Amino acid sequence: MRIARFSIDGNVAFGVVEGEPSGQDGPVVDIIKGHPFADFERSGQKIPLSKVRLLPPVLPNKVVAIGRNYREHAAELGQEVPDVPVTFFKPSTSVTGPGDPVVYPSFSSEVHHEAELAVVIGRMCREVPRERVKDVILGYTCANDITARDVQRSEDQWARAKGFDTSCPLGPWVETDIDLTRAADLGIMCTVNGEQRQLGRTSEMVRPIEDLIVHITEAMTLLPGDVVLTGTPAGVGPLSVGDEVAVTIEGIGTLTNKVIKRG
Ligand code: MG
Repeated sequence: MRIARFSIDGNVAFGVVEGEPSGQDGPVVDIIKGHPFADFERSGQKIPLSKVRLLPPVLPNKVVAIGRNYREHAAELGQEVPDVPVTFFKPSTSVTGPGDPVVYPSFSSEVHHEAELAVVIGRMCREVPRERVKDVILGYTCANDITARDVQRSEDQWARAKGFDTSCPLGPWVETDIDLTRAADLGIMCTVNGEQRQLGRTSEMVRPIEDLIVHITEAMTLLPGDVVLTGTPAGVGPLSVGDEVAVTIEGIGTLTNKVIKRG
């Protein structure tokens, strides 16, 4: 099931996306009563997807991200995969939705795309044992861990380099029908203006999703709607103002954003 968050006529709601873009009438959104973090009912009120504005599929309290979780990406940065996972935060204010602009930050001249599988947490959890990880995941979405690479190199902590406004596009929706086995082998791609830049599989992750959730929740409580970014495959590269960057993950969909100049 694909659960989207969207606005229509100034109201915000969650809905289940049905149908394929290639279908005759196009996909529709069946508005749900309540929110997706508990049992919910579909209202049966269906709106064409083309008539709504998709929003970030969740509003995370925090985005916890993992660095260098693909060996070839670590190598392209001239680094090794660390013994202990590199963990950092992207603030809630960095989150932006599908189709929303990524605003090129004033303090950088080298902004990179990083296509990543995002895990969406479904329930409050801490100290999650490996065998319970599946129970705390609502589903998966696409993420772009937009990074000011020059700032990442020049500052010890990555709060500015990876935490600036609009540096965390998420979407287009949360796919809940993917289990951990399937999530561990999904194609992941990034294109810029239609040209392929990154192409990998989540099977190349050094540490699988279970290990990441165990590691993170050893230290902190995750809340419903929190997001875990699982690292990016090789092929990261620069974005320029005017570029259209798209992250596509097999079985989920495509997250597209345009890079704009700060107005
Ligand atoms: Mg990353």
